[in-house]
This record gives sequence, structure tokens and C-alpha cells, in this order.
Amino acid sequence: MSEKSSLLQKLTSTWKATNLDSLINELNLYLDPQAIAEIQRAYKFSELKHKHQKRKSGEAYIHHPVSVAITLAKYRLDTASIKAALLHDVVEDTQVQLSEIKEHFGEDVATIVDGVSKLDRLEFQSAVEAQAESFRKMILAMTHDLRVILVKLADRLHNIKTIESMTLESRKRKARETLEIYAPIANRLGIYALKVELEDLGFKAFSPYRYRVLEKAINKASAKQKKSLLKTKEQLIKALSERGLSADIHIREKHLYSIYSKMKRKHASLNDILDVYGLRIVLDDDSDCYQSLGVVHQYFKPIPGSFKDYIAIPRVNGYQSLHTTLFGPNGLPLEVQIRTREMDWVAERGVASHWQYKAVEKNAHSSQFRAREWLNALMAMQKNSDSEEFLEAVKIDLFPDKVYVFTPKGEIIRLPKGSTPIDFAYAIHTDLGGRAISAKVDRKIVPLGYPLSNGNKVEIITSVKASPNPQWVTFVATAKARNAIRSQLKVIGHDDAVIAGRKLLVKALYPHRVSLRQLRGKLLERILSHYKLDSASDLFEKVGIGELIATLVATNIAAGPNAINFSQVKHDSLEIIGTEGLTTSYGNCCLPIPGDEIIGFISSGKGIVVHRANCKNVSIFRKDARRWLSVNWGENILREFFTEITIRTLNKVGILAEIAGKVSSLDSNIVSTNIETQGDSTLIYFRFSVKNRKHLANLLRRIRTVDEVTRVNRGHTQ
Ligand code: MN
Repeated sequence: MSEKSSLLQKLTSTWKATNLDSLINELNLYLDPQAIAEIQRAYKFSELKHKHQKRKSGEAYIHHPVSVAITLAKYRLDTASIKAALLHDVVEDTQVQLSEIKEHFGEDVATIVDGVSKLDRLEFQSAVEAQAESFRKMILAMTHDLRVILVKLADRLHNIKTIESMTLESRKRKARETLEIYAPIANRLGIYALKVELEDLGFKAFSPYRYRVLEKAINKASAKQKKSLLKTKEQLIKALSERGLSADIHIREKHLYSIYSKMKRKHASLNDILDVYGLRIVLDDDSDCYQSLGVVHQYFKPIPGSFKDYIAIPRVNGYQSLHTTLFGPNGLPLEVQIRTREMDWVAERGVASHWQYKAVEKNAHSSQFRAREWLNALMAMQKNSDSEEFLEAVKIDLFPDKVYVFTPKGEIIRLPKGSTPIDFAYAIHTDLGGRAISAKVDRKIVPLGYPLSNGNKVEIITSVKASPNPQWVTFVATAKARNAIRSQLKVIGHDDAVIAGRKLLVKALYPHRVSLRQLRGKLLERILSHYKLDSASDLFEKVGIGELIATLVATNIAAGPNAINFSQVKHDSLEIIGTEGLTTSYGNCCLPIPGDEIIGFISSGKGIVVHRANCKNVSIFRKDARRWLSVNWGENILREFFTEITIRTLNKVGILAEIAGKVSSLDSNIVSTNIETQGDSTLIYFRFSVKNRKHLANLLRRIRTVDEVTRVNRGHTQ
């Protein structure tokens, strides 16, 4: 090569593609020289074919494919994707045939270029229809290779960046398409960084005036907030490092379009949208994340119901993070995300992280593995694709096992699920518990056994003369309340306890149609010797201070001199009303619910354990007749019971979310779930709460309306 021509080549290449250097720089960060050389070959081919074309802006056409390739290189996509990006418009806009691409660059690159060219030919017409139609076609394109979509998204990104040279009409159309079609796809694929860019640029192109006004307003309004956040950030970094946690904390600025959408959705002004900022805490591993959550919650109280654990249960697209919203400094809500570096990588890049050049661990628990699984399911789904389903937002809210309630002063008290005003009172102070006479929840008087729910404002009404009621132990959910009640009852005078115990026993005997007067002679003797007591008043006292459980004593008394015999007590069935508290529990083996035929088993440690009559454990212990007693459900049972079901479905993305949605739409809380893929089908297991059999039947009916569901069984089956 002559000196002159090499100089000329240098000049032309720098003149033609200053952004080629940026591309090479980016590629150098993760690809080896051989791969980069191959990519340069694709560049030269594309440059040659587009030689005489110019973009509307007047610059050389090659600038566009190189920009697209740069975007993809930033996502560390593989060599084939980068080559395809460089060649993506060659077939559509020049004389080159697809076979030529295949010949020069291989099958892989040709398939991607073909897919992108096909997408380019799609015509979007009326707003609503176009959305569904284009979705379907895009999904079909994805069947061949998801990289097609990634190239297309990067293509769209560059087009919307350089939209100024277009006519107003096509600008609006492209902007709208970007907002309604491409950004949602990026979102669905979990490529969050790209989604944000597409949305902000789409918004800017669609309503440039609004964009500018909002941008200005946000900058003005948020200066102060940013300052206090910086302080919070320093504070948290210090607190975390004191516990040996090294974290990167980023101040997360909400992007313009998300603020705009929120204002539109909530008909709110900018001043009402205060949570413009959030914090992201990035750490080394899972356990650091949970530890930091604890630290963060020590500094700022969480807003009840805001915590979401996407680490334990990742979103379908593989996204993992802990989310919590705090009462931040100045009383403003502060959203905090906590995740590991790996999760952060995946969260920003979504499925694009799948093609990350770096060798990926084949660890079933890694986010990348999950993203890939999700991807496979996505591909499988296209066979019976329906774009609306694809569009359907996937949202699984976790149901925490805690309730968060407010004191009258606005302080938050955290209690286990199922807690009552009595638990609340004892959680604040044992004196408050001991003197409680009634309670108000959200300003309404409720029974003391009322189950509290998230966000309730609870007020305890007390009297100095009041003392704890032994019956409370049957419904409280916290050990603290239970122990306090028992110890307070012990210091009450003997007489009071006897009176209270007698009352409780009369009440407990009522369903057996036994009167306390019958407790004499041989029956009394047997009962006293059973409990190793000297007198009836000792028995009443023990019941009165909660050491003996009235319902159990009553069952024993009702059983008559021959003690408990299953067949004999058949007619004198014990009524189960669900509020027996500690004295009654429900077999974990069969999880009975009201409406089921049931039977009680007297267990020395647990009181009465209720089983379904057809539970396999019943037949195993059937011979032990003295320990069985007939039980039946009372009417108007207010509490909820746990039950479990196993669903077999065809594999489909989002099926878990869809079914979970059906379950929770009928006022049922899911406590645990498990999903297992077996070939073409998926087994989904749920444990959740229901009121009774009717409630369960309604739920099952609803679940069966999901087309993919092939079988639903009660219980946990394989
Ligand atoms: Mn293009």
C-alpha cells in the first residue's frame, strides 16, 4: 500500500465515522482482538453498501448502524449481535441479498438481520390495533432469536435520538410508537436502562414543550431534596460500615416520563409527587442485603405494606431486589432498593445480560440463569400467543407475615399476623394490656379479639379497675401477651380466679349440654385425679388463671365417667368455632376448613387437633379411640383457615402471577407458593387462607377459568 493511499484511507475513515472509534473502544472492553477484527469486517461491508446514502440529517448513513452497535456493545452483547447491528439496514435499504450476508457472516448474523428487516416492514396503523398487531409480529420474530428485538430496540433508540430532522407528523408517530410499543417491550424484557432512555426521548419528541417545562420545574423543586438525600446517604454508609457492610449507595433520580405519567395517572401536580428521588444500596451478597434492610429500618421507619422481597421471589423476568419505602427525612417518603451487584447488573440490562460475554456460572440460583429460564418460557409462549396476555402487567405482591398498625400518636407497631388489640396493648406496655376494657380500630369500637390489619389505627380504652380476662389467652397471637396475661392473672386474688374459671367452664360446657352441677361424685373425683387437684375450686382457679384450658376440661367432663370415647361422644359433638386459641389446632397433614367433615384428636401437648375425617392420619390412629372426639363446625366462623392446593398447568410465562391474581382477587392471602416445571407442564403449589369450603370452591372455579390449567387438587400433591 502506498503511503498516499494509506493516508487517504486514514483521512476518509476518520471523516466518515468518528463514532467507529467509540465502538472499537467499547468493544475493546470485553471482546478479544479476533472478534473485533470480524466486527470491523462487517463494518467495512456495511460502509461500502451504504456508501451513497445519507440520513435525513445529512450525515453519512453508516453513522446510524454504528450508533446502534455502540448501544449494544454497552450491553456487552455477543459478536453476532454487534455484526448484525452494523448490517441491520443493508438488506432493507440496499441491493444486498440475505444470502450474501449469510455467506459472508454466517447463519446467526443473517437470521438477526432478517428479523430486523422484517420488523422494519411492519406498518403500524390505528393506535390500539396497531399495538396488538405489532406485538404479535414482534413476538413471532422473537421466536427465531431474541437478539432481533435487542437490535431493533437499539435501532429505535438512535432513531428517536435523531428525530429532529423528521416531519412533525412522522415525529409524533415515531414518538408514540416508542412510548406505546418499544419502551414497554424493553420494560417487559427487563432492560430497564433502555426503557428509561426510550421513554424520556419518546416523551421529549412527543410533547417537547411539556418536557421542557417539567424538566425545569423538577430541577427547581428537587434541589433541596437532593441535599438532604446526600446527607442521608452519608449517614447510611457510615451506619452500614459500622456493621462491616461495604455498600455503594446511589441516589436514584426518577426519570421525567415516570414523573409525568404519575402526575397524569393521579391527576396530581408536581408538588404532590414528592418522591422524585430514591436510594439504591448495592452490596456483595444476599445476606448483606437483608442485613442492610435491618439497618435502614433502624434509621427510618418503613411505611406499612411497602416492603417487597423480590430476592426471595424474583419477578418473572428475573429481576431481584428488596424494596422498601420509608418515612424519610422531612417526613417525605423515600423509596429504597437493596440488591447485590449481580442483581443490579441484571436489573439494568434484563435479558440483554443473557448474552453477556463473560462466562456465566451455571448456577440455578443466579439471576442470569433465571432470566434465561424466563426467556425460554417466553419463546415457548409464542406458540399460543395472545398479545394482550403478553401486555398484562405482572405483579405479585408478597403477603408479609406481619401487620403494621399505628398508635394514636402515629407510631408504628409491628405485630405478627393475626394479632388483636390485646396483643397491641401488651406490645406497648403490660399495664396497658392489663387494664384494657375495649378497643377502637380506625375510630370504631371492635371486640378485643378483632384481627388487626395493615395500617389500622388502634386505640385501647382502659379502666384502672380492669384486670385481664383469662379468655384472652385463647385468641392472642403474641407470646408476650400470653405470658403477661398469665402472670397478671396469677397475682389476682384466689377468689377472683375461681369466679372467672367457673364462668369460663360453664360457658365451655354449654356446647356439650352439660351443666356444672353435674360435676360431682365420681365424675368430679376422676377429673380431679386426672389433673392432680384437691378440690373443685382449685380446678376453677387453674382455669381462671389460664393454666388449664376451659374447653379441654369441658371436653373431659362431658366425656362422662368412661372418659373420652369417639363412638360414644358422637352425639355430643364439640363445636369448633375457630377462636379456641391455644386449645385447638388444625392438622397440618390435612388442613381442615369449615365445611369439611372433621374429627378431633386429643394430643397431650397441643389440646385438640382437628383433622379432616378422611385424613390418612385418622385411619392410622383410629384404634386409639379414647383420644378421638367428635367435633363439628360452629356457625358464623369469622377467622380464616389455611389450606393448600396443587395446580397443574401448561407452561406459560406469567402463569404463576395470573393464578396468584385470581386467588387474591377473592380476598385470599397466599402464604407460600412453589413452582416446579415437569416437561411440558408446571406444578404450582399454593398455601393460602380461606373462610370455608364455599370460599375455596369459588376460588377453584376461578382458577379453572385459566385456559392452561389442566388439573387442580386440594392438598400438596406431586
Ligand atoms: Mn435502522
